[in-house]
Amino acid sequence: MDSITTNKCSIHFNNICYTSLNEHLRKSNFSKIFILVDENTHQFCLPYFLEKLETNISIEIIEIESGEINKNIDTCVGVWNTLSELNADRKSLLINIGGGVITDLGGFVACTFKRGIKYVNVPTTLLSMVDASVGGKTGVDLGHLKNQIGVISNPDLVLIDTHFLNTLPQNQMRSGLAEMLKHGLISDEKYWEKFQDLSMLSLDNLDELIYESVMIKKNVVEIDPFENNLRKTLNFGHTLGHAIESYFLSNPNKTTLLHGEAIVVGMILAAYISTELAGFPKQVAHQIKTLFIDYYGKVVIDKSEYATIIELLKYDKKNNHGNINFVLLENIGNPRIDCLVDDTVIIDAFEFYAL
Ligand code: NAD
Ligand code: ZN
Repeated sequence: MDSITTNKCSIHFNNICYTSLNEHLRKSNFSKIFILVDENTHQFCLPYFLEKLETNISIEIIEIESGEINKNIDTCVGVWNTLSELNADRKSLLINIGGGVITDLGGFVACTFKRGIKYVNVPTTLLSMVDASVGGKTGVDLGHLKNQIGVISNPDLVLIDTHFLNTLPQNQMRSGLAEMLKHGLISDEKYWEKFQDLSMLSLDNLDELIYESVMIKKNVVEIDPFENNLRKTLNFGHTLGHAIESYFLSNPNKTTLLHGEAIVVGMILAAYISTELAGFPKQVAHQIKTLFIDYYGKVVIDKSEYATIIELLKYDKKNNHGNINFVLLENIGNPRIDCLVDDTVIIDAFEFYAL
């Protein structure tokens, strides 16, 4: 486990990160370095990162407020203005240190400032390590619609240093783990089997699993960078998961669900639907449900709420030329894309979850 290269972007792990970055800085003749952080990564990640940096190039820190609510064009305008005031030029480098909000927004800012400057991603959440920082999707939200504005473009380097996970809150760790579980379910039974005892996972034994997860995502996005077919499999659990996430977000009586927590529910529902429509073994769907609920707990969704959540799905569908984007499983590691699912089967799936 050291370095892998994909779509002209190289991903480096742990110790190799800083050797690669420092070498990149020596070779590339950058005029200035800008580092984008939020208040949490400023406090928890930046000091460690700066200790590892070996360069004489001048460095400026740009801080934005954390949270999805700030992943918007106004924040970009703020960062573009700061870059401009600090005389950033086309030879400047932007280093994004943070979770998916920072890497998505920072990537977009870099790709658009002066028609594109080079950037490096340093993901500091588990979700951004195994998902957001790989694959080249950058962008921001437009109002309450997620990721509406953006471009596909890769950073020069992605530096995955799991040391940063030491300060990440547990709920954020669990949210990121959901994407790793998804990677196992859609692409690799052997990898999936490594997650059969989730209580055994700790920072001491996670590195290899993170590496394998990144490899799975890398292999998918390399074959289908623009999501015409294979990349759609990464949406497993996300059709209903997104609807549940939006429903909980917009409902003041509900506790907030992190993205990964909603996706876990979406994956259990999709596993059930797969048994009905794609021949997925019923016994495996039960195992998935037990494994996930034991670890993540059960999200309370009342019967009276099913219809509203299904309406939200249809809203998503409208945004997608009327195509439902259900990904189902024929078996573990064997997904089927673009599946049509009737409301009655979705309701049965909610009942399966609630039982
Ligand atoms: P996030 O960026 O909001 O980070 C979660 C929280 O953790 C924030 O409060 C952050 O300040 C804090 N934090 C980050 N690193 C920390 C550390 N090491 N120690 C302590 N606190 C730390 O959320 P996220 O889950 O990383 O990313 C979610 C975003 O990623 C969403 O906007 C989503 O759309 C995007 N995303 C993008 C892709 C893609 O392919 N580009 C894929 C998946 C998700
Ligand atoms: Zn996701």
